[in-house]
Parts: sequence; structure tokens; C-alpha cells
Amino acid sequence: MSVNYVTRGYCVPLYPDCLQRIMLAKTFGCVRLVFNHFLDVQKNNLINQGHIYTKNEISHMLTLMKKDGQFSFLKEVDSVALQSSCENLNWAFMKFFNEHKGFPRFKKKGYYSTYTAKNNNNCIRTGNNCIRLPKIGWVKTKLYQKIEGHIQRVTVIDHGDGNYSLSICATDVPVETLPSTGKRIGIDVGISELLTLSNGDIYDNKRFYASTLDKLIVQQQKLSRMIKGSNNYERQRRKVHKLHKKIRNQRTDYYHKLSKQLIEDYDVIAVETLDIKSMMNGKVSNLNLSDASWSRFLYMLKYKAEWYGKRFIRINQYEPTSQKCHVCGYINKGVKELSIREWECRQCGAKHNRDINAAINIIKAANIATL
Ligand SMILES: [Zn+2]
Repeated sequence: MSVNYVTRGYCVPLYPDCLQRIMLAKTFGCVRLVFNHFLDVQKNNLINQGHIYTKNEISHMLTLMKKDGQFSFLKEVDSVALQSSCENLNWAFMKFFNEHKGFPRFKKKGYYSTYTAKNNNNCIRTGNNCIRLPKIGWVKTKLYQKIEGHIQRVTVIDHGDGNYSLSICATDVPVETLPSTGKRIGIDVGISELLTLSNGDIYDNKRFYASTLDKLIVQQQKLSRMIKGSNNYERQRRKVHKLHKKIRNQRTDYYHKLSKQLIEDYDVIAVETLDIKSMMNGKVSNLNLSDASWSRFLYMLKYKAEWYGKRFIRINQYEPTSQKCHVCGYINKGVKELSIREWECRQCGAKHNRDINAAINIIKAANIATL
């Protein structure tokens, strides 16, 4: 066994006291103001000049803005947080221009919001169940595990329901690699089941939060019947928000456990690269697909493989893994139809479960690719 040094995130709750809550609210307010102000500036420039200002131009404008008496209160909060807010805006524009994502939107008060603080000159430190944040001071937290390595930056999250949490990004975190098992596995990531393994194991998607999902549907219907902006509406919105959060947490938890288990059990894990966009446009229901959050799960598998000294391989999506009989190699074009779950090979007579056959082809392709 050896040790890898990795970059990793930690998520902890924050329990600010009264004064700290006020200071946090101020910081979130200023971050939002800066974001919205420059979004307006960029929007106007785009309309009038046909381009947006560069990152440096915006950064310079921010410095001038802080000197303006009207905005002098901006000096009271963490200056790095304000800079990051401008960086986030720039990033949102880059996504809009380069990845055809939606146009950046104005931030609203009272919703999920974040700000980033960087660990310049060791201004962020951890203590005994507390963490020191720039301009806020020592805030109570619950450190479920020791924060190792070097803290690079933190993101303070206001969940919009009175709760706060902190996402910590640390570099040079030591991780012990896992012992080799000599086993390899192919994984078909699917719609009806989350994962089908080439050994026939199936992991389904919703069983872990199906009951919360049912509750959410009921509460969401209630919300849709209320008058927007009323007190009842607001109360119900928070309820729905809380359920969303619960589902998110349950899913993340499940994904973490499942990915760790697979990394422990196998040395090589092969999956098929999914063309999610084209599937979204196809017949597959959008709800199921986003619910599966494949890409996030695959990302976990990928970085955990790196951490623990295992291999994660993605197979080209144009490989006909579903259509090919893994016994004789015959290509059955009829299997393209997603509704076909079982089929029999016309050439060798082998009986196939669609997903298990695909998973076996995936690990076969990975074996060829890694010869
Ligand atoms: Zn066959």
C-alpha cells in the first residue's frame, strides 16, 4: 500500500451566533449586490458595444466601486468574497458563450446562495469543532473528520432556510491506496436500473429515497395550489425546499457508499461514456434521467479510483455494447429499441438480459483497450 496526495472537499455544517449571522447576511448581501450590479453592467455593454468587459476590467471597476461613497459599506465584508462573485459572473458568461448555457440571471434574496473565501495568509484555520473565516471570526461547526492537507478555499452556503454549511477544498490530503483484488468489472449505467454489473449484480436507483420522493410530490402539488407570495406559500416553499435537500443528501450518501464499495471490490472499473444530451432529447423521461444523476456518480468513481490506486476506464459510446452478443459477437440491430429488455441471439442462441450483456461487452472492450 502507498499514499496518494489528493485534492478533496469536505462538507460541514456551520452554526454562527447572532452577530455572525448578521455579518454573514451582510456578506451575502454585498456579494449579491456586486454580482447583480456587474451583470447589469455587462448586459448593457453587450447590448451597446456587442461584447462584455474582461475579468480585469471588472476587477478594476470593483475597486473603484468600493471607493465610491455610495458603496463604501462593501469595505466591511471579505474583499476576496466580492472578487469571487465577479469571477463567478465571468464564469457564468463563459458558460453562456461557450457551452450555450442560459444567460446569467440576477440573484434573489432568500434563496440558496453561496460565497467563496480563499485561504490567503492562513486566514482560514480549523480548531476544536470551530473554523475561522475572514471577517467573521471563529464559527462553531461539527468536524465529522479531521480536515487534512492544506485548506485552499471555502464556500459558505446559505441554504435559505436558516441553515448554513461550509464546503472546504483542501489540497495535499494524504489517502492510503486500497489493496488489489485482481478483479475487473464492466458497468452499464441505465435508466430503469442505476447500474448493471457484468457479473449480473443490479443496483437500482430510487429505492433509497422513494418514500421521500412520494412526500415531495404531495407537498409540491400543495404548493402549486397556493397564492404566490403569500405567507402560506412561503412556508410551503420552505417545506418543499427541505424535502429536496433531504433527497439530495440521501442520494449523495448512497452514491458515496456505492462508489467506495465498487472501488474496494474491483481493480478495474469500465463504464460506457454516455451521450446524455441525445438521450435527454429522445424518448427517455427527463425526470428519471436527472434523478439518476449519472455524471455525478461517474465523477465519484473516477476520482475515488485515482485516490485509492484503482483504474476507471470509459469506453467509447459508439461501441455497440447493447446490440452485440457477448458470446459470438453477432450484432442485433433490433436491440436499439430501449423497450427491449431480453433478447436471444439469432446466431448462437444465447439468451441475454439487455443490460448485463452490455456490461460484459463494456469490460471486454476495456480489456482490449488496456492490453
Ligand atoms: Zn451470439
